[in-house]
Amino acid sequence: MELKSFVRDIPDFPKKGVSYKDITPLLLDPEAMHRAVSLFLENLPHRNIDKVVGIESRGFFFATLLAEKLNAGFIPVRKPGKLPHRTHTEDYDLEYGSDTLEIHEDAIQPGEKVLLHDDVLATGGTAVATCKLIEKCGGEIVQCNFLVELEFLKGVEKLKNYNVSSLLKYS
Ligand code: AMP
Repeated sequence: MELKSFVRDIPDFPKKGVSYKDITPLLLDPEAMHRAVSLFLENLPHRNIDKVVGIESRGFFFATLLAEKLNAGFIPVRKPGKLPHRTHTEDYDLEYGSDTLEIHEDAIQPGEKVLLHDDVLATGGTAVATCKLIEKCGGEIVQCNFLVELEFLKGVEKLKNYNVSSLLKYS
């Protein structure tokens, strides 16, 4: 099964010049979802994982499925003001301006093994900010995995201190 055939390119979305990777066709197909989850699990260095972190919002889909398969807890990393309890906060730069992500302070116990997941690795800024949040909580990052990696944006270079795995690479 060619998983790339379930990812749709939307030109000039959400703004001109961006080719948006739409994963909703993959989410519509149970067999493709099952295949993606199996591949994510096969590509892990080990399965001794305490928590799976998903990044708002498209990271939540597979992160929750992986958490269930790994018998691990799921943690949402969210945009500011969405999490109700005490949070750690991390600002990061975007092409124009900056953004912020938050995690609940008590979501991870020091020394816990954490898997980070998001739908797309582009420049890597979002994932690096999330790694910092996990480390502020004392978590140990086992892997950062992505459904899609836009290799030409070299996000993997920003994540060079981590084990990175992507199912579908676009050069
Ligand atoms: P970055 O911080 O540049 O690695 O961007 C990653 C975040 O932006 C992820 O949470 C993605 O969901 C989203 N993203 C960036 N580029 C795209 C794209 N071409 N298609 C879909 N989502 C994207």
